[in-house]
Amino acid sequence: MTDQHIHIEPIGFFHTNTKEKHRIPRQPDNDLGIHGYIQLHREHNFEQALQDLDSFSHIWIIFQFHQSHQWKPMVLPPRGKQKRGVFATRSPYRPNPIGLSVVSIVSIHGLCIEIAGTDLLDETPILDIKPYIPYADCISDANFGWLDTMEESHHIYNIGDNCFVKAQEIKEKEGVDIILHIKQLLRESPYPHPYRRIKKINEDMYELSIRTWRVMYTVLEQDESMIITIVSITH
Ligand code: SAH
Repeated sequence: MTDQHIHIEPIGFFHTNTKEKHRIPRQPDNDLGIHGYIQLHREHNFEQALQDLDSFSHIWIIFQFHQSHQWKPMVLPPRGKQKRGVFATRSPYRPNPIGLSVVSIVSIHGLCIEIAGTDLLDETPILDIKPYIPYADCISDANFGWLDTMEESHHIYNIGDNCFVKAQEIKEKEGVDIILHIKQLLRESPYPHPYRRIKKINEDMYELSIRTWRVMYTVLEQDESMIITIVSITH
């Protein structure tokens, strides 16, 4: 790269209670996304800069992937088996570690913007905010590039009664919604992959590790759907 430098300072930071990287979705997601807030810096006239933003439902957030320390020209996408050029992906490991996410505004109070459906880690530095403008930003006939060649399947979950009881127990004792965790982790694929802690136990059975829990499940592929039956959740 050249020795031309651009001086950019964060305008604030993103904060959320979700601390674990593996729980952050791979793209913003209204159902599974993270809830949190952007706290803008004081004494920069950002109160004025924020005026009228609350008239929009969604915003673009431009941020720094502060936890990505090196980049690779070719990356293995979470759902893929084949490496792709980093510029043809949304990977956090890029030569300039800059991220871009659309999120919905929940509320704006003073210098605090509460947002929902994000894919950002706690303490992410925020570089800029822009309104999401459907007529400019939503291109309904855009294609899916190489993603078009990936099979998208629909997941149907069967969760045994014993697993529901166990999940309830975990929620009461540790405040963790393990069923939501399982769905987040298996959403891209229920099969082993370098990014997922999944082991194939035998022909039909897989084991997913979440912290110290072990989740056993089977997968049945049927037409466009995958039926995932959660058989047990143990410590
Ligand atoms: N929507 C963004 C990010 C896509 S990658 C874009 O397209 O640019 C999303 C992943 O980035 C998340 O799963 C999370 O693991 C990772 N991530 C989020 N914030 C990060 C940060 N501050 N530093 C490093 N990685 C981060």
